[in-house]
Amino acid sequence: MRLSGKTALITGGNSGIGLATAKLFVAEGAKVIITGRNKETLEAAAKELGPNGIALVADATDVAATEAAIKKGTEKFGKLDIVFANAGIPGSTPLGSTTLDVFEKVISTNLTGVFFTVQSALHYINDNASIILNGSVISVLGVPGYSAYGAAKAGVRALARIMASELSPRGIRVNVVAPGATRTPIWGAAIATPEAEKAFEKRLGLSTPLGRIAEPDHISKTVLFLASDDAGHIQGQEIFVDGGAVASPAGAPIYRG
Ligand code: NDP
Repeated sequence: MRLSGKTALITGGNSGIGLATAKLFVAEGAKVIITGRNKETLEAAAKELGPNGIALVADATDVAATEAAIKKGTEKFGKLDIVFANAGIPGSTPLGSTTLDVFEKVISTNLTGVFFTVQSALHYINDNASIILNGSVISVLGVPGYSAYGAAKAGVRALARIMASELSPRGIRVNVVAPGATRTPIWGAAIATPEAEKAFEKRLGLSTPLGRIAEPDHISKTVLFLASDDAGHIQGQEIFVDGGAVASPAGAPIYRG
């Protein structure tokens, strides 16, 4: 087991990538504190995780609530060795019809919330810990309609590099996992019916060299690697888990003869 004796915090651990990572971490021997806003899905996730999981309601945009949850979780499971700042929301912010409220909500959750999750965790984290931030291919792909989301995720990359500098004296590593399209509830209506999901997969697969979307475990296994001692000398990096969409777009099925 690769995380025996370690304690992890995962924000947004009650759904999608966060939940897959929480389950993998528990299977690898860790004790896991998950947070989110939805009490019902948190309770369901806690049942799945068993005695080595604890689920706490904490909105990532509420600094006091986040710090209180970390305090409570670490009182039960001990100081943190791993933080996965994963909580995030989608958000369409096209030029011409975007309100300030919507734009700021995406930034406050996906960027400001990430900074304050890490800052709050600092009081409760061990030296030589691993912090992983959840980024996105949308930080670099220029996808129309995603100004706030893309800017927040590009900001997450900058945060990781700056935090890596600030935390290196404590031996704490900070890296980014940047997923491509991944099969999770974040896609909402786009995958609400089997037909919609099939069309969504086909569309995204066409622009992905490996010809498919990611499953949550493609991402969680990369997070496990970054969290583990196997990644002990990796600092300030961003790993795209996207089937080649960012690095090798010309290899996508849409360009094949
Ligand atoms: P899900 O919608 O399945 O999960 C999002 C999680 O974030 C939920 O657990 C949700 O819990 C939590 N969350 C959202 N807002 C807050 C908040 N204010 N405070 C606390 N928790 C919050 O989506 P994914 O698993 O796909 O998303 C996880 C991360 O992966 C996000 O950062 C997303 O941007 C990123 N990502 C996802 C991709 C994809 O294609 N799926 C691609 C690239 C990046 P609750 O609702 O209870 O608050």
